[in-house]
Amino acid sequence: MSRAELPTVVLPGGERVPALGQGTWGYAEDPARRADEIAALRHGVDLGMTVVDTAEMYADGGAEELVGAALGDRRDEIFLVDKVLPWDASRAGTVEAAERALRRLGTDRIDLYLLHWRGGHPLDETVAAFHELRDAGKIRNWGVSNLDAADMAELAAIDPGAATDQILYNLTRRGPEWDLLPWLRERGIPVTAYSPIEQGRLLGHPALDAVAAAHGATAAQVALAWVLRDGDVLAIPKATGTAHVEENRAAAGLALTADDLAALDRAFPPPDRARPLQML
Ligand code: NAP
Repeated sequence: MSRAELPTVVLPGGERVPALGQGTWGYAEDPARRADEIAALRHGVDLGMTVVDTAEMYADGGAEELVGAALGDRRDEIFLVDKVLPWDASRAGTVEAAERALRRLGTDRIDLYLLHWRGGHPLDETVAAFHELRDAGKIRNWGVSNLDAADMAELAAIDPGAATDQILYNLTRRGPEWDLLPWLRERGIPVTAYSPIEQGRLLGHPALDAVAAAHGATAAQVALAWVLRDGDVLAIPKATGTAHVEENRAAAGLALTADDLAALDRAFPPPDRARPLQML
């Protein structure tokens, strides 16, 4: 399958990015897996999964370094997402964290820089730092992660320009459908769904297996196709081997039927009231 066949999501500024990217949490923790992790990332980019998500938190900067080593020669092909830790997210600290990240990544710019979750620093300080970084060309877009609807409303009053809210969203974590997803949709802010296959815990679930069997697919592919079903969610599964990368890429071509969606709703009911946003 070519890159052109991957569906895309539209960022608020109009830029289109593929709806299926690659996560890196857990990368760079075991030197014995490094070659497989690099191969997975490069193969994923070959297949069009050019959104690469990392964070200063992952392996204490090791994942950023690994992404740089894996994709430094293909920088212009990828859309690089990185995150600042909340305790670094003061006005000056955010800028310093980004500069450290750029050095580890071996690049001059981050395409989308996120506040990893809300901490003690006022949001307006972090946003001011994002503006400074953007004006200096060190980041191209900014956004947030793990912010619930009330936090998003507070943020929007400071600056409505967040390019995404990266949240825990999968079949077992449907709470955001009650309020956060509608809030973001009304404003044209795409969601990034992290842990889309619940870190592997969705594998082997009978309801997923039944839908998968009907399509000659796998449970992981059903979990991903479900997250991608509405066209305005970006999913960033993490995979280590190229086989998982290929399987995940093929999930973008899996069209779930109304019957499939109804069966999944019965097994994983949508929320019937507001619930706090969960995070991993
Ligand atoms: P995930 O992508 O839901 O699951 C990853 C697990 O699923 C790994 O054990 C992986 O195994 C396995 N897997 C992947 N593809 C598979 C396939 N086709 N068949 C069977 N197993 C498969 O969980 P995640 O890593 O937590 O989330 C994805 C990314 O989201 C992270 O890597 C990170 O970049 C981001 N994230 C962000 C936050 C945040 O707070 N913003 C929090 C969590 C995650 P292998 O590695 O062996 O392939």
